[in-house]
Amino acid sequence: MSITNVSLTHLSQELAALASEYTPGGVHSSTRGLKPRIVWKEASGSRVIDVDGREYIDYHAAFGPIILGHRDRGVDNAVIEAIRSQDLLGVGSTVKEIRLSGKIVEYVPSAEKVLLCVTGSEATYNALRLARAVTGRKKVVKFQGCYHGWHDYLCMNIISPAGKVGSYDPASAGILESSAQQTIVLDFNRLDQVERTLEQQGDDIAAIILEPIPHNIGCVLPTQQFLQGLRQLCDSYGVILIFDEVITGFRHGLGGYQAHAQVKPDLTTLAKSMANGYPCAALCGKSALMDRFQTNGGDVFFAGTYNAHPTGVAAATATIERMEGGVVHRDLFRKGDYMAHHLTALIERYGVEAHVAHFGSVFVIYFMEGPVTTYTDLLRNDTSRDIQFRQGMMDRGFFCLPTALKRNHISAAHSDADLDLTLQAAEDVLKTLGRAKA
Ligand code: PMP
Repeated sequence: MSITNVSLTHLSQELAALASEYTPGGVHSSTRGLKPRIVWKEASGSRVIDVDGREYIDYHAAFGPIILGHRDRGVDNAVIEAIRSQDLLGVGSTVKEIRLSGKIVEYVPSAEKVLLCVTGSEATYNALRLARAVTGRKKVVKFQGCYHGWHDYLCMNIISPAGKVGSYDPASAGILESSAQQTIVLDFNRLDQVERTLEQQGDDIAAIILEPIPHNIGCVLPTQQFLQGLRQLCDSYGVILIFDEVITGFRHGLGGYQAHAQVKPDLTTLAKSMANGYPCAALCGKSALMDRFQTNGGDVFFAGTYNAHPTGVAAATATIERMEGGVVHRDLFRKGDYMAHHLTALIERYGVEAHVAHFGSVFVIYFMEGPVTTYTDLLRNDTSRDIQFRQGMMDRGFFCLPTALKRNHISAAHSDADLDLTLQAAEDVLKTLGRAKA
């Protein structure tokens, strides 16, 4: 089959079949598969359009990076301007990366020094390598439900089936077991478990890594006591505390969630909404730790041909500059509150066993009674209703990823009218899922 043979109807299905001839499953990341399959043509502002011309208001936001809206003109122009003067140099520094690093140091409370890379997985991988080098210890703690990237150290215990919670649940075959065995998985928000683990194995533990809000399972809020307790325990046991703010950083404020919580980790990883869809990520933290990298003559390797790529750096700088002053975040929080408030009202009106969890511009409906404090609570989520809701929204032209527990993102490009259209559609769908048919 060649591309010219594709008929004009249901182009997505036909092109997806062609994609599968060249690429296993037709998609380039484990989490990109959709049923029915979609091939995209265009993205603009709050909208995404497929090759059949079907338009959606987008809440998926490419798993989170899109914070200003798709193809934001300011960001795109900054990228175009950047590539007119420089492509990849590969050694030395550039003025633009110095400026971006300065901004990260200015805004992220824990950032005294910054290293730029391309993806969140690289940032978390290097954070752990550094923590191991500095402490001379091997083990790390992660929490059930958190995702930190695809590497062997941490690619486990994300959305685990009930039978796997509390035991080793690798997300992939082929993970080196001797590496994974160094990872201890605990329940989020359960400081008692962390305390016990450190009492027993503190001398072997290099780092504790967490998403300060585990957005990979929707929106599970941390208690203040949990975050503060982690900080204190890490100080007592000489463990490196790593906040993986790949999603929360920049989306919830220029200082990330650590600025909201006023808890300073030792190391922080950033990516996604930092660059509004362009590839740019960062590892930052205390100078005393970061200076151990070989970039500074230390003994910890940190490398990447495309690190601080001019396109990502230009996009990140433009994105951060647009968010300076607080107007964008105030607007995102207002929209998130509006959405959560009205969805909650609809859920009550139609007697749906569900509740809305949200923080800032991120929201999700859990189809279960609250509260949700840890992943185990989410095992009560009614997956079939969750998917029915998402599918209903998709059918009506609202792109909410049709996978249970997955969060929705509002961007600066979502207008109030977009939100009202979304709520009208949500009412339509929730009506069919509730007890009370009003
Ligand atoms: N950390 C978190 C919290 C993430 O959500 C992700 C990606 N979903 C990653 C790390 C990995 O980032 P990347 O996909 O850019 O490697």
